[in-house]
Amino acid sequence: MPEPLCDSLWRASAPAAPSLSKLEGRLVADVVIVGGGFTGLSAALHMAKFGLSVAVVEAQEIGFGGSGRNVGLANAGLWMEPDQLDKTIGLEAGRTLYDALAVAPDYVYGLIDEYAIECEATRHGTLHASVGKSGLAQLERRYEQMARRGAPVQLLSASEAQARIGSEKFNSALFDPRAGTIQPLAYARGLAKAALEEGAKLFDYSPVENISPYEEGWLVKTQQGEVRAPKVVLATNAYSEQGVKEQARKFVPIFYSQLASKPLSDAQLASILPNKEGVWDTCTVMSSFRLDQQGRLVFGGMGGKGDVLANWASQRVKELFPVLNKVEWDYCWTGKIAYSEDHLPHCQQLQNGLFSVAGYSGRGIGPGTVVGMELAQWFTGQRDNLSIPTTLLRDVPFRELKRVFYEVGAQAYHLGQKAHALD
Ligand SMILES: Cc1cc2nc3c(=O)[nH]c(=O)nc-3n(C[C@H](O)[C@H](O)[C@H](O)COP(=O)(O)OP(=O)(O)OC[C@H]3O[C@@H](n4cnc5c(N)ncnc54)[C@H](O)[C@@H]3O)c2cc1C
Repeated sequence: MPEPLCDSLWRASAPAAPSLSKLEGRLVADVVIVGGGFTGLSAALHMAKFGLSVAVVEAQEIGFGGSGRNVGLANAGLWMEPDQLDKTIGLEAGRTLYDALAVAPDYVYGLIDEYAIECEATRHGTLHASVGKSGLAQLERRYEQMARRGAPVQLLSASEAQARIGSEKFNSALFDPRAGTIQPLAYARGLAKAALEEGAKLFDYSPVENISPYEEGWLVKTQQGEVRAPKVVLATNAYSEQGVKEQARKFVPIFYSQLASKPLSDAQLASILPNKEGVWDTCTVMSSFRLDQQGRLVFGGMGGKGDVLANWASQRVKELFPVLNKVEWDYCWTGKIAYSEDHLPHCQQLQNGLFSVAGYSGRGIGPGTVVGMELAQWFTGQRDNLSIPTTLLRDVPFRELKRVFYEVGAQAYHLGQKAHALD
C-alpha cells in the first residue's frame, strides 16, 4: 500500500475535492482512464469537451499519486537538455516534443484561468540555481541551447541570483519567465471539477483489479463495478498498483520528500524569494524550495522521508538562509517519481486500444497536462500522433537494485552533506 497523502501541506491547504463515489454496477464509455492525476484528468477533461464519453477510475483519492505530492514547479520543457533530447529521439521528434512542451505552462495556466481553478497559481518564473563550477557550466549549456531555440530565458549573474533567491550559496541561476508555481493537489482537484463540468464521469476509491479483452474493446473491473470501452488509458505512472502493477516494471521508482515550515515572518519573507519564484538546484542529489501562499518554505530533496532527510533539510536551510536561524517544520511527506530508462515519458499502445502513459521522470505538471490534451485530440482525429515517444518500454533490468542504489545514495549524500561544503 503506498504512503498516504495525509501528512502533506498540499492536502492540508487544498480546497475540498469534488464529491465522488465508488464505481458500482455496469457502465459503457468511449474511453476508460485508470488513474486520477494530471494525465488522466487532463485527458478526461479534453475528451469530454470533444464529445467522448469518458470514465476516470481512481484507486484512492483524486491526486493521490505524484500529482498531489509534487513541488508544484510548472515548468516548460523536460529535465533533459534540449540537444540531448534531439540526440535521444532524433532531430525532428526532438523539435516536435520541445515545441509542444515549451508552451506547456500556457496550457496549465490557461486551464487554471478557464475553469477558475483555485490552486495558488503564481507565474513569476522559476530559477534553476547553480552550485559550483560544474553547476554553472551546466546552466551555461542549457541557456545556450534554450536561447538558440528562442526560449525567453535569462542567465543571471551571481549577485542577481543571490538577490532573487535570498541566499549567497548560488553562483548563477537560469530564470525562465514562462514558468511558475502551483498548489499541485489543488490543481488536480480543480482539473477533476473541470472534467466533471465537461461531462466526464469520475470514480474514486475504486482500484482497478483487472482489465481483459471484451468484444471489440476492454472490460475494466473494480471490486464493485465494471466499465466497457473500446479504449483504455493507464495513467498510473509511478503509482501503478493492483490490476496495472506490471506497468511499474518499466521505470525505476525514486523517492523525493518535502518539508513545509511554519509560515515565515514578514522580515524573513522580505529577503527569501521576494518575487516568489520556485527554485531547484544543479546538485546531483537535487533539492528544491519555494514558498506557498501562507509564506511557508517548502523544501525538498531526493530520497524517502525520515530523520536523515529532516536533519539534512534543517541544516541546509540554515546554510542557505541565515535569516532562518531555526526552522520549524509542520509537514513532511514523500512522493514517488517514475524514472524511465531514457528519462522521457512514453505513451505505449500495449495492445490494440490499450494505452499506457508513464515515465515523466520528475517533470509532469506541464507534460501531463499536455499529453492528456493530446490524447483527447488523437482519439478524436484532431492529430495523427502524440508529441511524446510512442515506443514500447522494456522492463528495466535490475530495477530493484537501481531503486536501492538511488535511495542509499541519496541518504548517504544527506548524511555526509556537512562534510562537503556546498560552495
Ligand atoms: C515528490 C515529487 C515532486 C515532483 N515535482 C514536480 C514539479 O515540481 N514539477 C513537475 O512538473 N513535476 C513534478 N513531479 C512529477 C509529477 O508530479 C508527475 O510526473 C505527475 O504528477 C504524474 O501525473 P500522472 O497523472 O501521470 O500520475 P499520478 O499523479 O501519479 O497519478 C496516478 C494515479 O493512478 C492511480 N492508480 C494506480 N493504480 C491504480 C489502479 N489499479 N486503479 C485505479 N487507479 C490507480 C494512483 O492512485 C494515482 O492517483 C514530481 C513528482 C514527485 C513525486
